[in-house]
Amino acid sequence: MNTAVVTTRFAPSPTGYTHLGNLRTALFNALLARAANGEFLLRSEDTDRERSAEKYLAALCDDLRWLGLDWDLGPGMEEAGGRGPFRQSERQAVYQAWFDKLSERRLAYPCFCSGEDLEKSRRAQRRANQAPRYAGTCRELAEKDIAERLLAGQRPTLRYRVADEGVVEFTDLAKGPQKFELADIGDFIIRRADGTPAFFFSNALDDSLMGVTHVLRGEDHLANTPRQIALLRSLGLAVPEYGHLSLIVGDDGKPLSKRKGAASLKKLREQGYLPAALNNHLFRLGHASDSGELMSLAEMSAHFDCARLGRAPARHDPVQLDHWQKLAVMKLSDAEVRTWLGAGASGDYLDGAVPADKEEDFIALVRANLQRPAEGAGWAKILFLDEPVTGATMVDGLSGIEAGFFETAIALWAKGHDSFRDFCGRLGEKTGARGKQLFQPLRLALTGELRGPELEKIAALMGKDRVARRLREAGKRC
Ligand code: GLU
Repeated sequence: MNTAVVTTRFAPSPTGYTHLGNLRTALFNALLARAANGEFLLRSEDTDRERSAEKYLAALCDDLRWLGLDWDLGPGMEEAGGRGPFRQSERQAVYQAWFDKLSERRLAYPCFCSGEDLEKSRRAQRRANQAPRYAGTCRELAEKDIAERLLAGQRPTLRYRVADEGVVEFTDLAKGPQKFELADIGDFIIRRADGTPAFFFSNALDDSLMGVTHVLRGEDHLANTPRQIALLRSLGLAVPEYGHLSLIVGDDGKPLSKRKGAASLKKLREQGYLPAALNNHLFRLGHASDSGELMSLAEMSAHFDCARLGRAPARHDPVQLDHWQKLAVMKLSDAEVRTWLGAGASGDYLDGAVPADKEEDFIALVRANLQRPAEGAGWAKILFLDEPVTGATMVDGLSGIEAGFFETAIALWAKGHDSFRDFCGRLGEKTGARGKQLFQPLRLALTGELRGPELEKIAALMGKDRVARRLREAGKRC
């Protein structure tokens, strides 16, 4: 028995690594449930046995936990008061019972049409300018006919018999009122010839049997919804409320897909994106938010409202994701930054590069300049490796500098000084350089970059000798 007022679910097909579109669906369903103190279920729609793989489900579960989107019921929790199991591949007996019920009530019938027959009929419909739908060939087959074909070894699909007239109306949580004529909907397959359930059937039936009250999913499913509602209603089963989320498009305006690896969470995690960055980015994809603050999941659920779901396509802009990443890194403690830098896809980014006694100062200094852990390795190299710093930025930046500037700097540095500020002051006096003209060449000489952490602290961490060497190297390039 389901006693929660709001029960939502995430029902992925584990046929590949999760992309942002799926995760946004998971996030919104989790938030909707949390906002109402309800339940969030995870159901694996693994009916396509060839394409589904346990490794994808495992990766997906790991991704959801990593994002903090834990579920109340899901694969592995078999009993759950008769609502499980939560892998569709384990629910064959449940489906069979409902196939039998549908057949007994003449709400479903065996269909012997071959793929070729169906294609032929669709072509004819197109020629006649009709929308392609099942022509009803097997709708009224006599019992005797059916028995003979079965005896001859033919394996039929099972089709749901859509009522000839009537309408399906519902108010979509995101898109508002919807109305579909049943006469426009052809009878659809609910069991494939190999005995496995088809999406329309298992997806709708499971939602109802598992007590799901609200379904948020991609708008590519909107056209499926009237079929699913008709099916559930004809069986006297509870129908959830549906909300269809506008699709997420990439910078090219095209929908994101699993094949577009750039947007798979696996890749983004490997690059060091943080859960808070992803959640905040996804939260704003198709859901209006007036807060520019980095929010926790609890704050997001308090703000989540179906009335704020957008109807226009949501654009995934990597620059926005980087913005949230920056804020998420800022929120980490120094110790968390250390862990983050240590957990790169290929191991510890600081591995051996930063002397142990300098690690704390290093992290405190560079963390504001990091969006990805790999950049930490870059700064470690700049600060602690003896290799000269090079690169186009440096070559360009130093091109207009007089060699005399560095000759003076080298001499002053060798002489010693009270502080870095003191050194800069004297260098300014001797060379006449001021402000940017003074600091830019120094920064380029020490780091090879135009921007970065405070120069004085960089010099202190580098140590006197390395600074001297970098000044000499820069001098040679002028
Ligand atoms: N397994 C379906 C999918 O991944 C679920 C659709 C739905 O949420 O109803 O597209």
